[in-house]
Amino acid sequence: MKTIIEPFRIKSVEPITMTTQTQREQFLVQANYNLFSLKSDDVIIDLLTDSGTSAMSSRQWAGMQMGDESYAGSPSFYRFEAAVKELAPFKHIIPTHQGRAAEKILFSIIGGAGKIIPNNTHFDTTRANIEANQTQAIDLVTSEGLDPQLVLPFKGDMDLVRLRELLQSRCDDIPIVMLTITNNSGGGQPVSMANIRAVKALCKEFDKPLFLDACRFAENAYFIKLREAGYRDKTPKEIVQEIFSYADGMTMSGKKDALVNMGGWLALNDDDLAMKARNVLILTEGFVTYGGLSGRDLEAMAIGLEEVVEQDYLHYRITSTAYLGNALNKLGIPIVKPVGGHAVYIDARAMLPHIDPLHYPGQALAIEMYRIGGIRACEIGTVMFGLQPDGTEQAAAMDLVRLAIPRRVYTQSHMDYCIECLAEVYANKHSLKGVNIDWQPPALRHFTAKFSLR
Ligand SMILES: *Cc1c(COP(=O)(O)O)cnc(C)c1O
Repeated sequence: MKTIIEPFRIKSVEPITMTTQTQREQFLVQANYNLFSLKSDDVIIDLLTDSGTSAMSSRQWAGMQMGDESYAGSPSFYRFEAAVKELAPFKHIIPTHQGRAAEKILFSIIGGAGKIIPNNTHFDTTRANIEANQTQAIDLVTSEGLDPQLVLPFKGDMDLVRLRELLQSRCDDIPIVMLTITNNSGGGQPVSMANIRAVKALCKEFDKPLFLDACRFAENAYFIKLREAGYRDKTPKEIVQEIFSYADGMTMSGKKDALVNMGGWLALNDDDLAMKARNVLILTEGFVTYGGLSGRDLEAMAIGLEEVVEQDYLHYRITSTAYLGNALNKLGIPIVKPVGGHAVYIDARAMLPHIDPLHYPGQALAIEMYRIGGIRACEIGTVMFGLQPDGTEQAAAMDLVRLAIPRRVYTQSHMDYCIECLAEVYANKHSLKGVNIDWQPPALRHFTAKFSLR
């Protein structure tokens, strides 16, 4: 069967406000052509991010009623802790309000001037939290992982040769080794079990703990099931359990693979580190059994963790992302290959070669997608990364537009609508002209910059 059947029925609906192209052209002017400045009510299909945008199940909503809001020792915490340990049996599970809070706590304890933390590719909040502690964040993804057109099963893998070199030359400066599954900043590409195992072996050899940035652990496990020899007959849960068996700790954003709108955690085995982490937690997030969350949030995460490793859910999730990507590929639209787990990335620089990178082809494409179809996507390119600390400007390595798919939110017909819209944008691509930046803040300009059309 080719038709994707969403493995859920819809019980509660949220209306989408339909808008006309004329209205959207006005909204764009009011937003200074920055899609972050749009009101989400004025967006038809919102593919800005997959973070915190999941639809919860009726079981999760029911579970929220069971949330116990006791300040200390809530049963909701123990249910959450048991759900995490079922998949990732770390000794200490420390709830936080989202992933970056777990990062902030971890790096404030293990970081410091002169230290280095290697990863396949650090996510932007991870890198920022490492650098905020005067620590160096180093990306060691394989060179294949940096080639958008190369079709390989595990482009998130760590480069083991370079990791060994770094461990040999700077051993004393490396507090932990990290691995991000799936590799969000590298196109949502998965890491193989063989690579996780090999990274763990290197960590053992050099006596370093391995921490997973595990935001999309279930999607990564499903790619292992589909693509790696020996895993076809294992359940996603068994694969997830094996992944975590190689790790000494994890940071997690529940806004991804815990299927909730808010939440996260830090988990680890080391007693001394856990004690220090809990001390920071109490200072900045809250007591150790709620960490900045409500009891009901902990209930929703506990149930989300059971649902996210279900075979039918993961099959639908990975297949529907590929459905969008494969359709765009068939239209001739250049995308990052193979399609990752949570998003399709359009190579805007390749699609719009007549627009100079310093006139932001990704932003031009994202604006046009909204103008034509009311679809909101996210530029990941020169707008996001081009501004240098000294105020000069440089083309980013790539100019991509990310179409991130919220979990369990849109149906196949919503994706067909996106495909139709992109076909129209693609047919008229020569009419796109690039944009100027009229105003920008000194850092993280993509959130608030003001643009105009050229
Ligand atoms: C989202 C994300 C984070 C940060 O999590 P937040 O919940 O947004 O703070 C860290 N690492 C990766 C890989 C992510 O995708």
